[in-house]
Amino acid sequence: MDTLESLLAAIAPTGASRDILNPATGELVAKVAEHTVDDLNAAVAAAKKAQPAWAALGHEKRSELMMKAADAIAAHAEPLAQLLTREQGKPLNGPNARFEIGGAEAWLRVAAATPLETEVVVDDDSGHAELTYKPIGLVGAIGPWNWPAMITIWQVAPALRMGNAVIVKPSEFTPLIVTALIKVLNTVLPEGLVSVVSGGREVGAALTAEPSIGKIMFTGSTATGKAIIKSSADTVKRLTLELGGNDAGIVLPDVDPKAIAEGLFWGAFINTGQTCAALKRLYVHESIADEVAKELAAFAANMPMGVGTDENNVLGPLQNKKQYDIVADLVEKAKAGGGKVLLGGNPDESQPGFFYPTTIVDHLSNDNALVAIEQFGPALPIVRYSDIDQAIEWANGLDVGLGASVWSADKTKAREVAERLVAGTVWINSHGGVHPMIPFGGAKQSGYGLEFGVEGLKSLGVPQVING
Ligand code: NAD
Repeated sequence: MDTLESLLAAIAPTGASRDILNPATGELVAKVAEHTVDDLNAAVAAAKKAQPAWAALGHEKRSELMMKAADAIAAHAEPLAQLLTREQGKPLNGPNARFEIGGAEAWLRVAAATPLETEVVVDDDSGHAELTYKPIGLVGAIGPWNWPAMITIWQVAPALRMGNAVIVKPSEFTPLIVTALIKVLNTVLPEGLVSVVSGGREVGAALTAEPSIGKIMFTGSTATGKAIIKSSADTVKRLTLELGGNDAGIVLPDVDPKAIAEGLFWGAFINTGQTCAALKRLYVHESIADEVAKELAAFAANMPMGVGTDENNVLGPLQNKKQYDIVADLVEKAKAGGGKVLLGGNPDESQPGFFYPTTIVDHLSNDNALVAIEQFGPALPIVRYSDIDQAIEWANGLDVGLGASVWSADKTKAREVAERLVAGTVWINSHGGVHPMIPFGGAKQSGYGLEFGVEGLKSLGVPQVING
């Protein structure tokens, strides 16, 4: 499996299949297995068989095997990145495909290495009590198409670390890379412990209702998150829900526009805007807005977009036609609402891929659709404000709250604003960076539960108190 061809051969479907097309070119990448609820049931049976022995191995031995699985990702990193680029669209270069596979390896290693000690919660005259975390058993992992490899590892790694078996249901848009990644992990892990069921929404829905699954790790849209809450209710499953966002960034009047242009750009346009915690609404103080908009547009204009296998490109296509149409429609609404297009906004419909040009629209009102609705693509709206209270009210005005950012030369001032924002993470002078030891999760309808670090491990276990 050390070339793209041999990796694809190793995951070639034997039964029913469908074509996966490259979103940059329309060409066939490969066929993927079209799994059904019967395949899900087989995966559940295999996981039930494998999980008790995995739990019994204990933390040290499990960590050792997980480190070997991370070595296997490293050994197959280039063919995995090549496949990710062809299926998802993101370029090999820049903070894209190779970066994502490297992140998957890094998160797996950190989950393997992070200790979760038994906590003595009371030890005095009133008694002695300890808190520990036991394996849940079987965990279902359902993911999106934007960072399919990294998010799969975010879900699978802590689950394995805590002694669980996992059944992964990838997005129907990016099943190949997830299937290949699990194939690589399974060169090391025991048989049946981690399986992929690459079916459609009905398979995802069956997974969330399956009685023997104790927990669902879900990353995707808020609408699907709500469906999962309902379908998992009868079996009272534990849930970690990482849902949609529409992150605000607030730029205070004291910034140096040139100095922040690069950070603003990558905060908004990483993965061509298809990132849950990307900067999706930019509020800029009117006294400095012309300069900030000019510097940002100048930086953005120089960032090459194109087919991901070309090493020059750092931006790619939208992953699918549906997302392309959402972005195109929102930009049209921004134009109709009086927005001033500083860059982009004029897609070349004659080319084969789902390329939407890097777009920045200034002078928008806060109620414009491009501001109020998650665009999940390369189109950033700028809203000018005069009063910081108004900016904070606008930033907090939606029913989602995944991330937010404050940009200022004065860290104390930035912190004061940050504390007033309702979001799971508020970054200061950057946006969207994640770290395997820093807990990550959403506020409001961006979901609940934390991933990463010790908090992330705890959420993949069942707390048990021994009192006495
Ligand atoms: P989606 O909700 O359409 O699909 C996600 C997954 O859910 C897919 O695997 C899909 O097959 C499955 N699914 C669909 N219906 C289901 C059901 N009824 N039961 C069970 N599973 C079902 O999301 P998407 O379009 O793939 O991803 C984009 C969205 O994800 C954006 O809103 C983005 O903000 C969000 N997202 C959030 C995070 C985060 O960490 N908070 C990360 C990435 C993406």
